[in-house]
Amino acid sequence: MSGQRRTAPGVELLSIGNELLLGETVDTNATWIAARLASEGIAVLRKTTVGDDVALIRDALAAGLRRCGTVICTGGLGPTPDDLTRHALAELYARRLVVDDAWLDVLRARYARRGMTMPAINRVQAEHPAGATLLPNARGTAPGMALADQERGLTILLPGVPSEMRGLLEAEVLPLLRERLRPAARFESRVIRTAGISEAALAERIADIAGDVAPLSLAFLPQGTGVDLRLTFAGSSAAAGDAVRSEAGSVLLDRAVARLSERLGHDVFALEPVDLAAVVGGMLRERGMTLAVAESCTGGLVAKRLTDAAGASDYVRAGFVTYSNDAKRDMLGVAETTLAAHGAVSEACAREMAEGARRAARADAAMAITGVAGPGGGSAEKPVGTVWMAVALESVTHVRHVIFPGDRSEVRERSAQAALDMLRRALAGTLHG
Ligand code: ATP
Repeated sequence: MSGQRRTAPGVELLSIGNELLLGETVDTNATWIAARLASEGIAVLRKTTVGDDVALIRDALAAGLRRCGTVICTGGLGPTPDDLTRHALAELYARRLVVDDAWLDVLRARYARRGMTMPAINRVQAEHPAGATLLPNARGTAPGMALADQERGLTILLPGVPSEMRGLLEAEVLPLLRERLRPAARFESRVIRTAGISEAALAERIADIAGDVAPLSLAFLPQGTGVDLRLTFAGSSAAAGDAVRSEAGSVLLDRAVARLSERLGHDVFALEPVDLAAVVGGMLRERGMTLAVAESCTGGLVAKRLTDAAGASDYVRAGFVTYSNDAKRDMLGVAETTLAAHGAVSEACAREMAEGARRAARADAAMAITGVAGPGGGSAEKPVGTVWMAVALESVTHVRHVIFPGDRSEVRERSAQAALDMLRRALAGTLHG
């Protein structure tokens, strides 16, 4: 049997659960593990998903082990009858299920600390195939487990709950894998985040230098709200010289990031995977400025993103969700005549919303968004996607309008991003008109 397997060193991922196949749960575990292993230079060779069925789980495990000798599974370790992963593992390795008394004591003690008796049903979570190593789970009742033999290879089972899975992967699984699988390649990447420029325009701007990044690879990742450029170094770390090679990779990456971001200038808002709202927040903090936000069609999206950053109270003074004309008039002081003459989705209204929010919140700066998110409410003059945005500073108010493509949620996301980008450029002094 050993002759059939391990065509390549690496890991297969097996996600278990009917809810994944029904589309009720997004398989974020596999995505997270893949990214984490890639950053360690450990190759993920395949991902598979199966439902809660012992034979299916056993067969998927067996196939994965034949292909590459190491499989990491998540899910199906709970205490209920549909949690069958440990049974599949026992069948595959032809082991009996035995109870780990030490883990049972840990579980009982945890319940006792909360003044409770452990439900009998949880006893199965101390069961594992004889010979498996339990991986203690500090965040939940299901321990992970690892079982290896010469003939089949190594199987690692982890709980499905993402925070539990992540904790166990870091503390228990990565040390095991680093020892077992000599990382075959080191991947290192950097991101350049842009806003306010299309993928095509971006490609044109860097067309004459994009080829120079070799041996790095360059990917364009359009997000709907902007385009990220990702540069990746994939260096072999075969034997000696790993450190030298990965250092060379870092230097190449730094150089390419510097060259591309210099060319792209103000369209770049970050050289790390952060939200534009956090970048804008940082700029406000640096300048010692406060901000007010007046939102209509985005319904609070901008305020939400700004306050996702810890410490946002240093610069966010207030957010107004002024959805009705009355609220725009009463809370922000938009003139009745403006609303009557131009409507709520208009240059004049956006301007008055921003200036009114700035005044009402006694903030140094304010931004406003008013538009038609759809699907209804559009007209020939103001089609769905028409959005007016304004940024009011002490001495000037900038107003812009865009007709965004997309459905309601895309129009809202894009409006929020474009307005934040407008504020970013206004604070940097690169927004004119
Ligand atoms: P527990 O012991 O807590 O019951 P478990 O190992 O039995 O954990 P499951 O019952 O399969 O795990 O899943 C528990 C929860 O974890 C699911 O309701 C789901 O929200 C989440 N989950 C399971 N698998 C995944 C996955 N692949 N990606 C993201 N979330 C997942």
